Amino acid sequence: MNEALEAGKRAGVDVEALYKKYTGTGQSKLAEARIDRQNDRKDRPPPLKEFCRRCSGMGLIKEHYNHQVKDVNCTGCDGEGFK
Ligand SMILES: [Zn+2]
Repeated sequence: MNEALEAGKRAGVDVEALYKKYTGTGQSKLAEARIDRQNDRKDRPPPLKEFCRRCSGMGLIKEHYNHQVKDVNCTGCDGEGFK
């Protein structure tokens, strides 16, 4: 910081004022943004339904039966695609 102050004096820049200006508002803005993001997460309602992971939401799964591949209703979600 001292080196920056001396360099600033030589160049005619008030480093201390700049430091105060940007550390104060920068940090407080960051903190506000962090709080806003946390509030957004709390306000967002939980998803009502989740995609079924067994059939990826298709509601159908492939079943092998006597060398045939058949599409049958997913047993994880009863063909709904959601849980
Ligand atoms: Zn399913």
